[in-house]
Amino acid sequence: MINLNGRVAIVTGAAQGIGKEVGLSLARAGADVVIVDVVDKLFEVVKDIKKHGRNTLGIKCDVSNYNDVKNAVDQVIDKFGGVDILVNNAGIYPFRPILEMNEEDWDKVIGVNLKGVFNFTKAVLPKMIEQKRGKIINIASIAGAVVGFMNLTHYSASKAGIVGFTKSLALEVAKYRINVNAISPGPILTEGTEILGHEMYEQIKMAIPIGRWGKPEDVANLVIFLASDESNFITGQNIVIDGGYTLQ
Ligand code: NAP
Repeated sequence: MINLNGRVAIVTGAAQGIGKEVGLSLARAGADVVIVDVVDKLFEVVKDIKKHGRNTLGIKCDVSNYNDVKNAVDQVIDKFGGVDILVNNAGIYPFRPILEMNEEDWDKVIGVNLKGVFNFTKAVLPKMIEQKRGKIINIASIAGAVVGFMNLTHYSASKAGIVGFTKSLALEVAKYRINVNAISPGPILTEGTEILGHEMYEQIKMAIPIGRWGKPEDVANLVIFLASDESNFITGQNIVIDGGYTLQ
């Protein structure tokens, strides 16, 4: 059982889906967890974490806005004294064919998915460097980072961008004992993917060699490993977790 006692973690986009499960799993492993999202539902997750007896804080914040993010990180440092783990999970995936996509659609997806990762990373790094310890885990996707996906050019560009960012940042901060890794999930059943409907659900399920959709817990278990000392020699990697979906 991995023990993250005494560690302070921030998880973005954690009001539901993968982020929520990551937040709860980090708390179960002993970390104090900060839940960040744009929706008030985040405060229900904060209540759940309190039940685990961990210190927690909920912050409503748009990851694409650097001022919001800097304020959020300042609040975390005031309350907890530091930040050990950052999980950049917030992401949106509005399906749109390229010919129907306008500049605003493009900027929105890149702003949340890619600039959001830069914003939070930039805001926590000075503290992590001072501590000479840190784990940054970026949630990318098989879309863009491994394979192409129809009607998701903006999303795929953002996720491929996250992987490039992860590798380059890992090089810059390795000397401070900060590990930076990406996770690329395949199909994971969440509130966000539920809206794809039953037919699409069954079609995708048939293409997954392991025979089922992924669960948020599958991703959370990998995050816990990457957040722990057990993974101290792993950095700059993009780890695919997709039940074999992209193998054939
Ligand atoms: P989800 O169910 O849609 O949850 C994402 C959360 O992030 C929502 O609460 C969302 O709020 C919030 N959010 C959106 N924009 C934000 C912003 N600007 N600032 C802060 N929070 C924001 O998503 P998920 O399926 O759990 O996916 C989580 C991450 O995994 C995403 O980065 C996604 O790209 C990645 N991923 C997911 C899958 C999958 O199959 N589920 C596969 C590969 C990668 P709203 O509800 O208001 O938008």
